[in-house]
Amino acid sequence: MAEEGSPLIYPANQAADVLHTIAPPTVLTIAGSDPSGGAGLQADLATIAAFGCHGAAAVTAITVQDTRNVHSFRAVAPGELADQIRAVLADIPVAAIKVGMLGSGENARAVADVLADHPDVPAVVDPVLAAEGGGSLAQEDLVEVLRGTLFPRASLLTPNHDEARRLVPGETVDSALADELLRNGAHYVLLKGGHREREDRVVTDRLYTFGQEEASFSHPRLPDRGYHGSGCTLSTAVACALADGRDMLEAVRTGIDFTFRALRASYTPGRGQAVPNRLFHWRGWEMEE
Ligand code: PLP
Repeated sequence: MAEEGSPLIYPANQAADVLHTIAPPTVLTIAGSDPSGGAGLQADLATIAAFGCHGAAAVTAITVQDTRNVHSFRAVAPGELADQIRAVLADIPVAAIKVGMLGSGENARAVADVLADHPDVPAVVDPVLAAEGGGSLAQEDLVEVLRGTLFPRASLLTPNHDEARRLVPGETVDSALADELLRNGAHYVLLKGGHREREDRVVTDRLYTFGQEEASFSHPRLPDRGYHGSGCTLSTAVACALADGRDMLEAVRTGIDFTFRALRASYTPGRGQAVPNRLFHWRGWEMEE
């Protein structure tokens, strides 16, 4: 019997052995830190947890931001970034990698160099250039270096329309944007539709491979609350589904479905944008279908 005042946290008559469970698949995120918890590493780790995977995280940049906008950022030294990733990959069998904000061209090169030694691990690359509030998250040289170094290593690239147009200057047509990004070496390109045609009631994301539209995925457009961290959530969710052994088409479908549910359950933690609720299945926030 527990004494009054000492609450029982585990039934005393049950063995308190360590359960030797099989390790869940590890997803490594390589991304910037967002202290507001809306985007970046913090968002990625919450997403990885929601999928029941083990999250490993290498920091590319320290941002100073709140839920309204980015005040400043500093990319970490490329050698320090490469060391973080190498340490994880030498120790843990990583099942999938997500690459988000890199901050500098030097960091893109460092990540590409390390990943070249691990060609079998699928990598989802979200070419983060700016925050939803408009603040820059990339040094000038990043676009050029990304195309030449990291895109050839990307199993999937997940630009929104604005990012795709910055990556392929002068081009506006979806299929031509995707073609050019595929020519840079990415295996698949997912062009996200959330930032365009905001008056449309449906959002359509299009998946391309080798110049063809492979599939499109549509869902109802949610009221525009200026979401912070939706791209991070999507790219990480796709990486988790790949880590779980799904093929690209199914992984993208799973990632989009997860992100839509998280956005539908989004909340506003501060004075700015809404944040997707990556743990929507807690507290009964998941609405009944
Ligand atoms: N990574 C970091 C560290 C960020 O701060 C942000 C946006 O603020 C992003 C990525 C991109 O966020 P989103 O998912 O809104 O595109």
